[in-house]
Amino acid sequence: MQRTHKSTKLISLVLSFMMVLSFFSITGVTAYAQESGNWDGVSYTLDDDGTLTISGTGVIPDNAFYNDSRVKKIVFNDDCDITSIGAQAFSLCNNCTSIEIYSQSVVEFGKECLVCNDENNKNLKSIAVYAKGVKLNNNRFYSFGVLETLIFSTEEPIDFTLNEFVYGMAVSPNITIPLDSRIVTPGHIVFSGDKASEYQQLFETAVENGYIDWIDNIIEEAQNDGCTYIYDSEPKYEIITQQNYERVFPKYATLNILGPHTHSFSYSASASTITAECSNSDGNCTLQNNKVTLIIKKPQKIKFDDGQSPLASFTGLNSFNS
Ligand SMILES: [Zn+2]
Repeated sequence: MQRTHKSTKLISLVLSFMMVLSFFSITGVTAYAQESGNWDGVSYTLDDDGTLTISGTGVIPDNAFYNDSRVKKIVFNDDCDITSIGAQAFSLCNNCTSIEIYSQSVVEFGKECLVCNDENNKNLKSIAVYAKGVKLNNNRFYSFGVLETLIFSTEEPIDFTLNEFVYGMAVSPNITIPLDSRIVTPGHIVFSGDKASEYQQLFETAVENGYIDWIDNIIEEAQNDGCTYIYDSEPKYEIITQQNYERVFPKYATLNILGPHTHSFSYSASASTITAECSNSDGNCTLQNNKVTLIIKKPQKIKFDDGQSPLASFTGLNSFNS
């Protein structure tokens, strides 16, 4: 089920309000509003208290919860295997206070997917990403007016191409990134043609200000205007350290770089859930809450011809094995 269009949403809101009214008149019991649905393999539930819970495998579409003031907290279930978060999926959820993303895969971030605060909003305090890796795709992150914590706890290092990552932060944020993450400076472009100087200027401004996501558009428009271009330097990659991080993060941020870490697991089991808990407390464990769980589900098959699998299945197997 796709999320419905605004106007149909309004109609269904009115309808459900009428239903609630008639429900009241019959029973006098309070009904709790809740929305749930799914996009292919990914499902969501928005509770009464504004908690948006995401679970499943696959892609969160563009604009999924764009500008949704009902959302107060975004949580991904720890069996999530999300491969991408669409453009502006959670943008301008201005009442949201925290976002916790979990995935067993590398998560690709769509354009401005987490721009949660506009200038009038002072709510979003923490963003945490626990995943195999993150592909930022020249995403720009801005207007995080009160963000205190930004955690990228990923197994793979992350490439940051932007120096405007947390523009507009009003407090001193604590930022955590994986070891060997890099600052990427894009290759330098030289334009030629009648209007070359105009586009050259735009390009230099974009790089200088970290608007790396503009570059593709600048190239396209230059070409439409009869310009050609060449790269006169390769992209540059530098490991992020305590000395150079202010090129991607504000200099008033405290940066924690996750060090090399060896999990020290102890295992426990309860009903159908096996938990591996890491007791290495060096502060570098990339697992959410220092643990990972594996849930065994019984076979779905009941009759020989019901088309269901005779096999038991696992939830969380990938992260348990990694
Ligand atoms: Zn660990």
